Amino acid sequence: MSPATRIINPATEQVIAEVPIGGVEETDEAVARALAAGPAWQAVAPADRARLMRRFAAQVEEHAEELAQLETANVGKPIAESRDEVGMVAEVLYFYAGAVDKHRGATVPVSGGVDMTFHEPLGVVGAIIPWNFPVAITSWKVGPALATGNTIVVKPAEITPLSAVRLAELALDAGLPEGVLQVVTGKGSVVGTRLAEHPDVAKIAFTGSTEVGREVMARASGTIKRVTLELGGKSASVVFADADLAKAAASAPGGVFSNGGQDCCARSRILVQRSVLDEFLDLLADAVLAWTVGDPTDPDSKMGPMVTAAHRGVVAGFLDEGMGAPGGPVSAHTTGAVPDGPGFWYPPTVVAPADPDWRMAREEIFGPIVAVIPFEDEADAVRLANDTPFGLSGSIWTRDSARSLRMARAIHAGNLSVNSNSSVRVQTSFGGMKQSGFGRELGLEALSSYSEVKNVFVSTVD
Ligand code: NAD
Repeated sequence: MSPATRIINPATEQVIAEVPIGGVEETDEAVARALAAGPAWQAVAPADRARLMRRFAAQVEEHAEELAQLETANVGKPIAESRDEVGMVAEVLYFYAGAVDKHRGATVPVSGGVDMTFHEPLGVVGAIIPWNFPVAITSWKVGPALATGNTIVVKPAEITPLSAVRLAELALDAGLPEGVLQVVTGKGSVVGTRLAEHPDVAKIAFTGSTEVGREVMARASGTIKRVTLELGGKSASVVFADADLAKAAASAPGGVFSNGGQDCCARSRILVQRSVLDEFLDLLADAVLAWTVGDPTDPDSKMGPMVTAAHRGVVAGFLDEGMGAPGGPVSAHTTGAVPDGPGFWYPPTVVAPADPDWRMAREEIFGPIVAVIPFEDEADAVRLANDTPFGLSGSIWTRDSARSLRMARAIHAGNLSVNSNSSVRVQTSFGGMKQSGFGRELGLEALSSYSEVKNVFVSTVD
């Protein structure tokens, strides 16, 4: 029998499935099938390719509850979040089905002839997926890759492969040809590395940590692969004294603790203008204590457990260390409640006022801990917000619209919201600046990351 990964439900600590550990051989076989499937997939008439993608989306809708339950059991995320994310998967597939025949080339004014451009598919795409949003992030890569005529091999995170495996089955049920969308389960260091180095893989679409992204980029350079990287973050929510403080505080837990803080867009720093710090912290404490942590299958739970015991240990380590401020330990300002019994629980925690130089205020925690840091004025807020190697996301809370635009232009991050913590929409581009990565997913922008512009000049000179 081939070796298998035991998949654990992080809320119950029970084994819920066993999944094969693919190796180099399985990866190579999948890439060979994807390569062979390419020409026929590219020859499918655009309207028919769009139709197949819509059927795929309809399959997802038909199996939405099954997929959501699978995601919740595997990742430990609240069922309400899983349902939203599966809904997004269908929406992504419909969006890119609609884009199949709208991703047009151009005619370019030149002398001596006619010049035109084509958007050509890249070939085989390798998609490497993290464990925090397995099914949603898979769809962000599958949608634009298939719409532009590529075939795709998906490598889910070793600990959360179940929804991607099911998604590929639904694609076949919808009528997508064999080999167009495949999933290879296994270790990143084996399957992921092989995809990054494989000579027949034209592009790696990677989402994960900055550390692994750096390695993937280096390995992909051997064959000059196209690479897009969606990496980590240390995003700031900036709250000015003139903001609707009640709204900013009530929204804050959702901005940092949703998915247990295991979110690349988590606003794990809240910068608050000093004159309203105490008022804001009181309001925030109420909101955090109302952020219920519990059984993720309960629709009223707002937060589930950490994904593994090991990850909970990493999160806890940040607090222990981060609290060792010069002059002695500081205690958390607010700590939420967690259930007893099995499950990798960690409470929502507010540290305030935090020093911007503490490790917890500088590195990605990927857990439910937020550092509240005071600032003096707008210039100070910009300096603190940008004082990070990351640049993924962030929020600006103010009633002054001119200030909101000045801040939005000054903060170096790919996705900002004003008076909101929303980061991701199907129709709008998503991606990072600085060490949060490059390339854009979602929106029409993603199509250009999965295609190559070819220029053709036709002489009209006799
Ligand atoms: P990770 O980097 O450990 O793993 C991501 C994926 O890469 C997994 O599938 C893993 O198996 C694979 N992998 C591991 N080593 C590899 C290697 N040497 N070569 C190729 N592939 C390899 O990340 P994670 O712990 O699964 O996810 C958390 C990280 O993902 C966080 O840093 C988070 O910020 C980031 N993330 C970013 C976004 C975004 O869109 N910017 C979204 C979600 C998560």
